[in-house]
Amino acid sequence: MKPFVGETPDCALCGGSDFETRLLGVRDLVWQKPGHFRIQECSACGLLMTRPRPNPEELAGYYEGAYSGGTGQGDAKKDGATSGLTRRLGRYRMDVIGKVRPLHEDDRVLDVGCSYGGFLKVVRDEAGCSTSGIDYDAGSIEGAIEPELCDYRSGTLVDATYD
Ligand SMILES: [Zn+2]
Repeated sequence: MKPFVGETPDCALCGGSDFETRLLGVRDLVWQKPGHFRIQECSACGLLMTRPRPNPEELAGYYEGAYSGGTGQGDAKKDGATSGLTRRLGRYRMDVIGKVRPLHEDDRVLDVGCSYGGFLKVVRDEAGCSTSGIDYDAGSIEGAIEPELCDYRSGTLVDATYD
């Protein structure tokens, strides 16, 4: 197994630079892609991050032949975005977010890595928020659910031009 050689950024939440390794050798169990991840915890705030994070070339390899691309599973995955399981997971995520700050209809929610937009649909339906979603996989965005109700974009957050 080859470790990633990408960046080791400071904490995305508090800017801290002291980390402790919590998990080593984490592998892609869904797509069985090569390589492994290390999960580190920020000593200041406890945020868990993939660190080092894959560089763009390594990340691109994870999308090749996966998600919507070339698997023949695109429709099934899109159907999964509106399944009962997705709705239950979406409500669970909203509960977790609500422990920090409950969502209200005047909130705007951005889902980074939104896939077909299943979680964002739950957010719209349950809390009435306006939603935006971005995913590296252009095929997921092309087939995203309820495109008339959400600002979907493909690409990376770093390259996106949100307000
Ligand atoms: Zn932190």
